[in-house]
Amino acid sequence: MVKQSNAFTPVPGLGLVPNLKGQALLGFEKAKGPPSNVIFEIEEIEEGSKFTFPYKDGTRTVQLQRILFRSRGVVGRGTIVVRVVCACTHCVPNQCDWSGKKLVLKLSFPSVTRVSEKAFMDRCKEQAKGKHAGIPNHFPDIYWSFGIPFDERRLQAYFKERFGDEYEMRVLQGSIQEELRPLLSLETALECAQVFYDIVQCHHWVYTYPQILHRDINYGNIMVRVKDGKKYGALNDWDLAMWLDERDGILTSQFRTGTRPYMAHEQHSPDWEGPHRYRHDMESLFYVILLLATLFSNSSEKDHEHSKKRQPYTKWFTQGDDFLLDKKISIILDLLWRPFPTHFFSAFHQWLQSLQQCLYDGFTAYKYFVKRQTDNPHQVLHFNDDTLGGHFSYDRLVWIMHQFSEETLETHGCEWQKKLRGLQKDEDERKK
Ligand SMILES: [Zn+2]
Repeated sequence: MVKQSNAFTPVPGLGLVPNLKGQALLGFEKAKGPPSNVIFEIEEIEEGSKFTFPYKDGTRTVQLQRILFRSRGVVGRGTIVVRVVCACTHCVPNQCDWSGKKLVLKLSFPSVTRVSEKAFMDRCKEQAKGKHAGIPNHFPDIYWSFGIPFDERRLQAYFKERFGDEYEMRVLQGSIQEELRPLLSLETALECAQVFYDIVQCHHWVYTYPQILHRDINYGNIMVRVKDGKKYGALNDWDLAMWLDERDGILTSQFRTGTRPYMAHEQHSPDWEGPHRYRHDMESLFYVILLLATLFSNSSEKDHEHSKKRQPYTKWFTQGDDFLLDKKISIILDLLWRPFPTHFFSAFHQWLQSLQQCLYDGFTAYKYFVKRQTDNPHQVLHFNDDTLGGHFSYDRLVWIMHQFSEETLETHGCEWQKKLRGLQKDEDERKK
């Protein structure tokens, strides 16, 4: 229950702090493992009630309407997304900047040192000019963001005492954003394909220009923006993102982030020490497409018969790291692997097969590289780890994904259009 009145107390140096004593707003799982594996959950947030948060010099209130998303099993934080409407007293057009907008309130628990989602998006907006002007269609539009230090006396103090400096202090991070549509809202496999292709192009742009790595590609973060009747793939939720130039200073425990069924296979291994590379996000995208195309008969309903008969992918949502590592390796390193998409998603067969082939080639090349390096310890051999020796690169993905079934998808920006013409030439040469 979120009490509207007296929900916050001003604390010198901290701003407004939520009054949690005696309220059941926030509840947390007990610490079962190291701090990075603590899962934070918001236990109770009621539809219909009001939520007040710090806004400029005072506070602002929204009315909670419907819970759209509640994260489960996300390592290191919990997220809740609620559809809201502005609850100001003068909420009419021209008087309130949020009137008539589709709004969501998003709450999560990043560590206090984490860069806010809004800071990443602001940098993207700054750079999305000129020939990049269409790029913001592929990002969330964040209207307001706020951070509130929370209940440090309780659980945080316990963790800090138990784990010392290794424990990252957390903050309740909130924002008001434009509501995007879920992947489920799409009507055809072709629309889904365009959205996935948009995501690759957007991911590449962010990696290349503002130099940000998303690090949590999952089914729920790939969303749809409808603007002037056109649908755009939008990469949502930048809470786990990081600046590329800060990657070297990051602890291994902080590399192990993401949403389990979609995490790159190496991240499930206790021996993995990072760093998180862009190809890990692209491997996640492969799992997003694989699970969607195998488990759903159309984008809005699960095909139970099919999933029973074919692949036991449903277990991916309940099992732990050992299981997922084993399953993912057995897909990547199987030369004869075949996907079994449902009838609705049958056209994804080609993409899945080609993407798996890239991963297979990449990890086979990597194994060969390791063997050669071991055999010749005095020679310094080079292997491009970002792209698995060029086998699993943005170029390869764009080449595979710019076409879907018999259709040519929309490639945004002259940069990729030019590159595709070059790749086409190479391909034609190869065929001669
Ligand atoms: Zn208003």
